[in-house]
Amino acid sequence: MAIYDLVVIGKGLIGSAALRHLTVNCPELDVCVIGPDEPPDRKAHRGVFASHYDQGRITRVLDPSQLWGALARESIKRYAAIEAASGVKFHHRAGCLRATDLPERIAEIDDCAQTYAPPHQRLDAAGCKAVYPFLAFSEDFIAWDEKGEAGYINPRSLIEAQLSAAAAKGAEIIREIVTAIDCRADGLTIETRAGRQLRARKALLAAGGYSNTLLERKLDMQTKGHTILLAELPRSEIERLRAMPSIISSFEDPSVASLYMLPPVPYPDGKTYIKLGPSGYPEPFFNAVDNDSELLDWFHSEGREDIAEAMKEALHRMIPDLKAVSYHSVPCLITNSVHGKPYIDELEKDRLYLATAGNGYAAKSSDEIGRIGAMLCATGEWHSDLSQEDFRAVYMDGGSK
Ligand SMILES: Cc1cc2nc3c(=O)[nH]c(=O)nc-3n(C[C@H](O)[C@H](O)[C@H](O)COP(=O)(O)OP(=O)(O)OC[C@H]3O[C@@H](n4cnc5c(N)ncnc54)[C@H](O)[C@@H]3O)c2cc1C
Repeated sequence: MAIYDLVVIGKGLIGSAALRHLTVNCPELDVCVIGPDEPPDRKAHRGVFASHYDQGRITRVLDPSQLWGALARESIKRYAAIEAASGVKFHHRAGCLRATDLPERIAEIDDCAQTYAPPHQRLDAAGCKAVYPFLAFSEDFIAWDEKGEAGYINPRSLIEAQLSAAAAKGAEIIREIVTAIDCRADGLTIETRAGRQLRARKALLAAGGYSNTLLERKLDMQTKGHTILLAELPRSEIERLRAMPSIISSFEDPSVASLYMLPPVPYPDGKTYIKLGPSGYPEPFFNAVDNDSELLDWFHSEGREDIAEAMKEALHRMIPDLKAVSYHSVPCLITNSVHGKPYIDELEKDRLYLATAGNGYAAKSSDEIGRIGAMLCATGEWHSDLSQEDFRAVYMDGGSK
């Protein structure tokens, strides 16, 4: 039986990034990733799902959080190199407009804008109307109109790019579901649903919302259902909204929705949609300790109807003249850590490591999260200026490692 130096479990945004970094930074290691492809038919599928089955995830430098901002900036710096190495385009510089009337948020973003100075304009309500006449928020707010690298990434294409760059450097890709990890003093045995057994010196667990299903000592992680609305646009609206950026809004007044929204993006069904989702609505919580029942039901559903309805109203308040052809909603999953930052940690000394818990922010930052996790697993050392303590895994029993 082949013995790998390092196996990455989970072929999502973080796992695929980790794999590529291993091939670049540790070319002497024999590495592979194990994880299933996206199911072709969500409703018929009975395996695991993921948080990235979509065409758009917002990316931007301006961030209220120092830590998340740093993870994003490090990742964004490498987008062009990943595209060049793979020949796969995933980064779309559509810009990102962040609008808010929350004083604390205004101070945080001003601070970030001053420190990192990405190309942007700071606008008041009238200024925003002048630049984006089709958008409506409220009478009084501040908006940062970020250009440069801001916009969106296609998460499916980013994974394809990471995997193709890693495969070109010799990494193996095994498209199967892991069912067990047996961790011993002399190495790990990994079993898959297809009946395969793999041996490895080390493994990095990056199975997103399903990571706990493979661990005996459970991590303190909430997996939350998330509902997104897709509004199909006719050709005339796609043309009219050509200059629309990605949007993040947070307002005190609940009638001005707090949400994120992508500009018109083409989807694999040949249609073009505006996608939006809420921030701050209570969404269903799943205890993804066993992945069968609740999570399966959730991914077989259309998400929550009340949230889809609220998003439809919010969309038409924000783009009052919008003419959409149709609407539908889709379920997704967000994995939250206790401290709101990813868990990147050693779980079993010299054997099993973890990089997961995207907290709804990790797509744009996945390359750096994957890099830190990969390097920790490969070398046992922390390769980042960010404090390792901030990323410690917390267990359900209240303890850390
Ligand atoms: C609706 C929605 C909108 C979002 N918007 C944004 C945004 O605008 N910007 C942003 O930066 N982030 C956004 N996010 C967050 C981002 O998508 C996630 O943080 C990111 O996908 C997390 O990456 P991951 O690798 O941890 O998980 P995933 O991408 O879910 O990957 C986990 C992988 O593990 C695999 N896996 C699971 N179980 C097993 C197993 N047993 N064996 C093998 N493999 C397994 C899965 O198949 C999957 O491929 C959004 C998330 C959602 C749900």
